[in-house]
Amino acid sequence: MALLTEKTVKEGYMVKRSQNKKVYTLVNYKRRWFVLTKRFLIYYDTDNEQKRKEKGRVDLSAVHSIEAAVLSATPEEIGIQGDFYPFQLGYVSDDYYILYLVALNDPERTDWIQTLRRACSNNLNLRTTFHPGNWTGKKWTCCQRTSKTSDGCKLCSNWTQEEDGDKENTNSEWKCRHYRDLVRFPLIAGFPGKA
Ligand SMILES: [Zn+2]
Repeated sequence: MALLTEKTVKEGYMVKRSQNKKVYTLVNYKRRWFVLTKRFLIYYDTDNEQKRKEKGRVDLSAVHSIEAAVLSATPEEIGIQGDFYPFQLGYVSDDYYILYLVALNDPERTDWIQTLRRACSNNLNLRTTFHPGNWTGKKWTCCQRTSKTSDGCKLCSNWTQEEDGDKENTNSEWKCRHYRDLVRFPLIAGFPGKA
């Protein structure tokens, strides 16, 4: 049962990449119903509140980065037709994790990123760099570095909150601008320099 005190900040369907906590499982993508509260990002198998089962959650206080991402996957693998809009949530619990999520359109991705950043804006562990690619188990697809915990190869975009952090209704365009500068990655596969 969800705590009644946990008010929903945002909810919606996204596709989640498996986190491969066990080394030998294959990467897969599953559609999940995401519910963001002030403290957690929780995901369920369906949006039906009566029937849904929680499949996992991220404690927002453990999050250190929220950035656009590049996934080496095809739309078929992800189960989406056409373009898709991935982003990532880096956090540390018992290990280093990155949760890759795929929004169904660009405005939704921007909104999820901004809303999550607002929820995490007071975290003390925020990082200045991140990897836009993904960890294959041996290396990062973006920079080929071979240490999972290596510093990121790209500077995080600027997501300092507005002066007065809780103006939730102002649609802060500057955030959007910074964010857009960042997401000019090819959405699928490689980077320049990658073989
Ligand atoms: Zn990298």
